Formats: sequence, C-alpha cells, structure tokens
Amino acid sequence: MTERVAQAPQRSYEIWGNWKMNPRTIDEAEGLLFDMIHKHLKPLLEDFDSVRKFVGIGIFAPDLFMSSLGDTARTAEGFMRLGAQNMYFAEKGAYTGESSARMIRSILTYADNDPNVLIGHSERRHGSIEGVLETNEIINQKMKAAYTHTMRPFMAVGETLSEREDGITEDVLEEQIREGLAGVSAEVFMRARTVIAYEPVWAIGTGETATPKMANEAHAHIRGILREKYGEEVADQTSIQYGGSMKPGNAAELLAQEHIDGGLIGGASLDAASFAGIVAAVPLFK
Ligand code: PEP
Repeated sequence: MTERVAQAPQRSYEIWGNWKMNPRTIDEAEGLLFDMIHKHLKPLLEDFDSVRKFVGIGIFAPDLFMSSLGDTARTAEGFMRLGAQNMYFAEKGAYTGESSARMIRSILTYADNDPNVLIGHSERRHGSIEGVLETNEIINQKMKAAYTHTMRPFMAVGETLSEREDGITEDVLEEQIREGLAGVSAEVFMRARTVIAYEPVWAIGTGETATPKMANEAHAHIRGILREKYGEEVADQTSIQYGGSMKPGNAAELLAQEHIDGGLIGGASLDAASFAGIVAAVPLFK
C-alpha cells in the first residue's frame, strides 16, 4: 500500500455507474445518490485519504434528473461526479428530444472538472433502443463535439457475441476506436482525459462476465491501438474501464488485472451498497 501511495499510479481508476432509464422518479434518484455518498462511500473514502485522488467515482444519470442530482452530488464535497449518458453533436436546432454539449455543460456546473459524457454505449450502437443505431461515424461526430466543448468523453466499445464467435473481436475494437477517434489528435485526446470503456455486448445486463483474462487481453489490445495511434505516453496514461455484469463479487479480480482501470457499471449501480462494494474493490483500497 505505502509504495503505491508514494508512487502515483500512471492512470486513475474510474468507477462509474450507468443508470440508463432508471430510477423511476427524481425522489428515488436523489435517495439512491444520497445513500451512495453518505451511507457507503464517505466512510470508505475517509480511511483512504492519501489515495482517493487516484480514483474517479461518478454516475451517468438521466438528463432530466441532472440538475437536482447536482445538489445531492455537491454534498459529497468533491468525490462524486455526474455525467450524461449521451448527447447530440449539433450545436442547436430542430432535433426534438436531444441534448447538446452546451446544454449538458450548462447543467453540470457543480464540479470543477470538465463535464463528463458517455458516448457510444452498446444499447445505442446495437439497437436495444428502438430506432437508435449509432454508427462509428455518428460516434466520431459526438466525440468531436465533446472535445469542442471541453467535455470529458467516455467512449464505449465492444464486440457482439457473434463477432466474438467469428474471431473478429480485435478487428471490431480496432475499427470502433480508429473510426470513433478519426481526426482526433493525441493532444486533444489527452487534454480531455478521455476514457475508453470496453464493454463486450454479450456481457451487458446478462449476468455473463468476461473472465478477467479475456477482459485483460481485450484491454491490452485497446491499449496497443492507442499506442500505435497516439504513442507510448498516451497509451500508458489512458484509463480503460471494463463493463459487463461487474458486481462486488467479481470486481476485485477484474480490477486487479494490469490493463483494467475501472468499471462501467449498469445493474449494480442501482443499489448503493453494491456500487460502493465495487468501489471498495479498487486495488488502492486494500
Ligand atoms: C452497462 O450498461 O454499461 C453495463 C455494463 O451494464 P451491466 O453492468 O448491467 O452489465
């Protein structure tokens, strides 16, 4: 422990919940966030004052709830972030139902960091939401809009079951990363502290988890693509989250892998104790 404190880790651990279209009401959402902060995370973090700055904790919440959740997040006095689950790339105009980068930026004002946004979640790429099928090109436009508005994007990538069975996982990841980040320089990517979320589609919300070895191999591959595109330093400093049925029971083994720098958590982030249990599994908190 003490060696890890003396030697800052190369990259932060990022543990983020993705609430999707949950909870049902603003009252439930505020209660859940409040419990996470005050019942579970504050007591845990108090014991690890010297390392907590290397762990980013946040929730991608529904846009509608964001403003009042900001007030709840403020009571954490700094450690609880919020982010949007999606945004549209246009500046403004006739896009009924969409939120722009500037709109999100104007709501996420409570923290001193750049507003966070999740881009390219598999439910938006692969048709879980009726009528939504985001391509790499659309994701690329959203990434560029995030950079233009000095936001911090978390770009989600991952293969479907049939792509894994066909043995093309690595090609799919490479295409998603290269096309999603087309025209984005190393400087812009780094300055925004971009995070990549590796989420094998077959493991999201299914109870199936990639084995730690499988996940680590995919993460190493992603880091290799970043190394080729942006060089050693950027690759070494980029946090790559794992997402796909992460729970308190499997988090420690996943987070202990060399290339896994956090988690993007769906189902388990709707339970305050489970989410905090995953945060507690970060190796720095041992
Ligand atoms: C997700 O929605 O990004 C996710 C990983 O969900 P779950 O943890 O429920 O698999």
